[in-house]
Amino acid sequence: MSGRVIVVGSVNIDFVARVPHLPHPGETVTGGSYDRHHGGKGGNQAVAASRLRRPTLFIGAVGDDTFEVEARRALLAERVDVSMVASLPGQPTGVALILVDAAGENQIAVIPGANGAIDAGYVRECLGRLGRLTGDVVLVCNEVPLHVVREALVCAHAAGATTVLNPAPATGIGRSVFSLADIITPNRSELSMLLQTEARQTGRGTDASGEIPVRARQLIDRGPDGPGVRKAVIVTLGASGVVVLERIGSGLEGAAASKGEISHQAKTATAAIALAGTASGDAEGIRVWEVPAELVATVDSTGAGDAFNGALAAAIAEGRSLAEAVQRAVAAGALATTHVGAREGMPTALELEEFLATR
Ligand code: ADP
Repeated sequence: MSGRVIVVGSVNIDFVARVPHLPHPGETVTGGSYDRHHGGKGGNQAVAASRLRRPTLFIGAVGDDTFEVEARRALLAERVDVSMVASLPGQPTGVALILVDAAGENQIAVIPGANGAIDAGYVRECLGRLGRLTGDVVLVCNEVPLHVVREALVCAHAAGATTVLNPAPATGIGRSVFSLADIITPNRSELSMLLQTEARQTGRGTDASGEIPVRARQLIDRGPDGPGVRKAVIVTLGASGVVVLERIGSGLEGAAASKGEISHQAKTATAAIALAGTASGDAEGIRVWEVPAELVATVDSTGAGDAFNGALAAAIAEGRSLAEAVQRAVAAGALATTHVGAREGMPTALELEEFLATR
């Protein structure tokens, strides 16, 4: 069954100023230029999924300022359903203030505004109004309050959706949150932060130096405080591609893909290692595989993670297997780096299909 992508997350207006040098505290830097972009991980991920022709709905909030209409219109122009975007009285729309110097170094201040004021009850009510979510994918990022992330994952799972948690930023996310997700998609530094949070919460040490699959495994295995991620951990490694750990029997084999398609996709993985049993005594096995990044002419890697997450959610909602969905997400992430800017660079369905056809 093919379904929708429902994104629960943030939407921002990004002000990007190009300045001769980054100011020191108290210094005013004059000159340069500035651009305004639409951003926020949630908004970008929704656009990524929608450009791949998946019906996409965004649940989030804007303020009651001049940017409210602009932020909504930008999503609507990308055919994202904004009927569940709340306008919060007395709150500003989220903004990111980004200074970039001549060498490409940056300073960023994010003011969450309405993103930080979303109510968990509002998200529960929105998901409730959507009824059964079987076949749908609910994609949640951490640029909204943690109790909203938790509520979204709980309600979406109860309604039958596949849940994807993009732990970005990874701040504050412990086992009690990531264990609510079917799939978690940290990048390299987010993986480290998740393991550090766990170490702090349990008072146990963590092996920060181990190989990525070994470290990621701690998120899927049962920990001292409870179970791990339900079905899969996908660690994105920028130009080094991704490492996937999938619980055998996860149910992510895909409804739409034929067996032939799955094995074709699996061939592109550099390693597929079935690990029997687990260190923690979990009876289920974990399949581990790596997918190298696509070689492209990268000009700006901003937004690669958002393209990856949006494309992953879209492919799973299309009923594709996890192996195929990851392959498509890797391609979408790479294509996003061939454009300047984040949301602007999300590939269209045509671009993605043409790219995949040349491989
Ligand atoms: P984030 O933007 O969240 O830090 P990553 O940088 O890991 O995420 O990028 C997500 C995915 O996008 C990577 O796993 C990879 O598949 C793809 N990607 C990112 N950077 C590049 C690159 N320079 N070349 C090709 N693919 C890339």
